[in-house]
Amino acid sequence: MMTGATGSCACGAVRYRLLSEPFDTGWCHCRNCQLTSGAPAMVFSTVPRDDYRIESGQDLIGRHESSSFGARRFCSECGTPLTFETNFQPDTIDFTVATLNDPSSVTPGFHIFYGSRIPWAEASDTLPRHDKFRPDTRGLPDGEVPQC
Ligand SMILES: [Zn+2]
Ligand SMILES: [Zn+2]
Repeated sequence: MMTGATGSCACGAVRYRLLSEPFDTGWCHCRNCQLTSGAPAMVFSTVPRDDYRIESGQDLIGRHESSSFGARRFCSECGTPLTFETNFQPDTIDFTVATLNDPSSVTPGFHIFYGSRIPWAEASDTLPRHDKFRPDTRGLPDGEVPQC
């Protein structure tokens, strides 16, 4: 039961609520995720944009354009990464699963950008591994997409 799930940044200034069940949960090992998080990989899940509701701290949320087609939002007080949005998926938003108050309630189903993983951060699971985006990624533009 995920509908109504809540989450927050590390300092607690930004709080959000999900209004629907998240989907497309997966690990991303791309270089941008490594730099954004300071960690070898991030786990994102997806909801329709209107279903990711900021309940407090809206004015503290910073925005960083991390690629030609994507932007990331974060708490400007404590730096916690919150969301990732892309031009080619205008109806949905990806959020960082670790910021949920109960992160165990969503389980990753795949790895993307596994080709840019840090060698000591090999996955120990048996989930599908894609060197870049999944081939069936919704709205993916034609041509080479370097990272997310
Ligand atoms: Zn914060
Ligand atoms: Zn990534």
